[in-house]
Amino acid sequence: MNSVSFKPVVSLVGRPNVGKSTLFNRLTRSRAALVADFAGLTRDRHYGEGRVGDIPFLVVDTGGFEPVAKSGILMEMARQTSLAISESDVVIFLVDARAGVNAHDHEIARLLRKTRAHVFLAVNKAEGMNRGVATAEFHELGLGEPYAISSAHGDGVVDLIETALADVLKKSAPSLESVDEEQVDDEELSDEQIAQVLAAAETEREEGVEVPVEETFTDHRLKLAIVGRPNVGKSTLINTLLGEERVIAFDMPGTTRDAIEIDFERNGRLYTLIDTAGLRKRGKVFESIEKFSVIKTLQAIEASNVVVLMLDAQSEISEQDAHIAGFVLETGRALVVAINKWDGLDRDKRDWIEREFERKLRFLSFAKMHTISALKGAGITQLMRSVHEAHAAAFAKLSTPRLTRELHAAVEQQQPPRKGIFRPKMRYAHQGGQNPPLIVIHGNALDAIPESYRRYLESRMRSAFKLQGTPLRIEFKSSK
Ligand code: GDP
Ligand code: GDP
Repeated sequence: MNSVSFKPVVSLVGRPNVGKSTLFNRLTRSRAALVADFAGLTRDRHYGEGRVGDIPFLVVDTGGFEPVAKSGILMEMARQTSLAISESDVVIFLVDARAGVNAHDHEIARLLRKTRAHVFLAVNKAEGMNRGVATAEFHELGLGEPYAISSAHGDGVVDLIETALADVLKKSAPSLESVDEEQVDDEELSDEQIAQVLAAAETEREEGVEVPVEETFTDHRLKLAIVGRPNVGKSTLINTLLGEERVIAFDMPGTTRDAIEIDFERNGRLYTLIDTAGLRKRGKVFESIEKFSVIKTLQAIEASNVVVLMLDAQSEISEQDAHIAGFVLETGRALVVAINKWDGLDRDKRDWIEREFERKLRFLSFAKMHTISALKGAGITQLMRSVHEAHAAAFAKLSTPRLTRELHAAVEQQQPPRKGIFRPKMRYAHQGGQNPPLIVIHGNALDAIPESYRRYLESRMRSAFKLQGTPLRIEFKSSK
């Protein structure tokens, strides 16, 4: 069987104002700051990652899919909401302790009673209230024993999540993907040791032992997810990729939370495609049987190590594109952008579109962007080359001597600004993780390093180690 386990999915439902986004933020708190950087494009987040203990799960705020003005979108939102419910392991239905039961609550409860979803009724805003009093009237919703919680203050939230996920977690422990993370070496180096490290860097350089990034990873299979909103051309691209190439294995999933992986070979390289759409082979082509699902998309991104984000050159960048891009960023996966349907556009239009997409996607500047035609098979070779580069960059091995040498060179060229009487002092750097690469910089008073300087270091490291196509994280550790 060729499949991997997806993370369990918890979706939050309830009428407006009951506290879904407050609960969402509490559950996914550690990640919120990251996404705030991309405000504007990813205005509201509707999905993110949470953790109980060290077990990760995905959280979906279906409030994000609530009906908006346009009817086409309205249909899609309604569809995504019911998909979210049907693809969730657990549904948390929020109601408001202070407002009491209302007609909308009854309507939602009626829908939920009909689904086979695992529903937990959470009576929110119950801080400072007697538990029994807070929950009493909600028994009439017919969804079992209500849980009193306060999303704003945190009361009861951990209990609820642990109870809600207990069954799921017992059945199958999700893949923690921790194999990709290297042990962070927290031991402080002395000045003498740093001198040795720098000497080692010199030797490495003189002896020319700096292996190109491409060759520094060995055993990380390239797991590819092709994602994008409906009709951008994902199935067409998959057919172009699989149609002409040898499909090595193609298995059916065991359970709903398994991802199908399709191994194929192209130009002598091996790929594993993480299927988002439930591909089935019909005659000569693969057909997607499920079409677009936000949750499948998120799960595929999670299960991959390189993502191709597909966009449609013949229509505007939409909020849905931005949401998907936002999730790729949050997970830190390597990324290549494919602007599809490039055929059938005249020259003037192409120039304009290219500039427009680059401007709007500046927050993805680490990723290479390709214009392609999935239908005509144009631009695919270059696209796949970038997929490989991104993969190599994501798993690059950055040696402590080289990192430290680069760090010292960067500081020599531009010192971090003083803060009060302190000037941050950076002493050495080592790699703390892969996919995405994490560089940990050690020194003194590093809390004072401004974001602009962090970006300067990031761009220096990125070009020194040729890290195109992957996010790069930099962490500062000050000695006490
Ligand atoms: P949503 O529309 O369901 O996403 O609801 P929001 O999360 O936006 O919350 C609606 C309002 O309820 C906001 O003013 C929140 O501050 C407030 N709220 C959310 N959770 C709690 C809570 O646990 N206690 C109290 N007192 N207020 C809350
Ligand atoms: P998906 O929903 O993302 O899987 O999109 P499909 O692969 O089903 O494609 C949606 C529509 O766009 C279909 O009618 C395709 O024929 C068309 N399409 C896909 N790729 C291209 C392309 O490169 N150029 C043009 N002109 N049309 C394309």
